[in-house]
Amino acid sequence: MSESLLPKNIAELKAYSSAKSEKLTGTTWLNANESPYAKEFQLRLDNLNRYPEPQPENVINAYCNYAKLNAEQVLMTRGADEGIELLMRTYCESGKDSIALFSPTYGMYKVSADTQNIAINELSQSLLLEANVSEICDCVGDAKLVFVCNPNNPTGSLTPVSKIAALAKSLAGKAIVVVDEAYIEFCPEQSAVSLLQDFDNVAVLRTLSKAFALAGLRTGFLLANANLLAAVRKVIAPYPVSTAVAMIAEQALSSDAVTQMRRQVSILNGNKARLETLLNESPKVSQVLSGEGNFVTLQLRNKDDIDAAMQQGTIMRPFTLYGDDNWLRISIGNEQELEQVRLWLEQPE
Ligand SMILES: *Cc1c(COP(=O)(O)O)cnc(C)c1O
Repeated sequence: MSESLLPKNIAELKAYSSAKSEKLTGTTWLNANESPYAKEFQLRLDNLNRYPEPQPENVINAYCNYAKLNAEQVLMTRGADEGIELLMRTYCESGKDSIALFSPTYGMYKVSADTQNIAINELSQSLLLEANVSEICDCVGDAKLVFVCNPNNPTGSLTPVSKIAALAKSLAGKAIVVVDEAYIEFCPEQSAVSLLQDFDNVAVLRTLSKAFALAGLRTGFLLANANLLAAVRKVIAPYPVSTAVAMIAEQALSSDAVTQMRRQVSILNGNKARLETLLNESPKVSQVLSGEGNFVTLQLRNKDDIDAAMQQGTIMRPFTLYGDDNWLRISIGNEQELEQVRLWLEQPE
């Protein structure tokens, strides 16, 4: 009955299937690009009768210190996912405006656009990587937000910062270039944050879910110039960040914790190089997309090999890419987890 009340765009939505939405049983979790390193935090919860700070000052200052920005350029959100949604709610008019994205890419841009009845101009990663900036801008048309996932999930490919700058320059006054840097800690020299100095139509999405090992906290940051963010600040919920989350985020951004994060990143990058070697040598694998980020995406010769891994408790993320359903994304785990993948790869057919 209530279905007849639904707007058309909502009635037609397919529920987003995230890595965690299916009830899988396993022992080795390599399907959601999480960190293998859990940390402990201290909580003091004697003031929960009070509303939290809308934007907790200590967390904002710590992130400014880490990203080399000032406070008016940083907005704390409930994960990068909320940053994506907020940009659309702020800058796109439902039923009228559009966004551009470069497939294959992160699935939430489409989900957020579909739920808000915003049209999608679906372009390709190969256009982004191979075409020149004026061709790309022609294809972008009148999209208001242009999502560049960098490095791109799930292909790992990188768009040079110089190209992002040229895109922002060409699109000035017409569109915002949204650079999703969920994995940038794995290749920090590729960050587009320095572009905020020169462009008022660049926004950068960040998260504590990947290299910072806090997927369970639900914390991200939207970085952009003061004017761009001022509009978003009018749209965000009044108290988006709970007191408990703010306390943990502050500890996660202390200088010791950042040093620890960087140490873990270098271990994970090393584990990744070892995994790539194993994959390149494996008869089960026909193609490896080697790129940046704490994951590797590969094509299997035989899709049924995924079932064997699942049965052994090693959970990885199957994908359909370029029309083929035999792709797999493996998150980079610790040594023991890598060993489970090696055992699977070396099993006879
Ligand atoms: C994981 C991921 C996110 C989501 O981050 P949250 O902060 O956990 O919401 C955003 N973008 C990309 C490309 C991701 O892979």
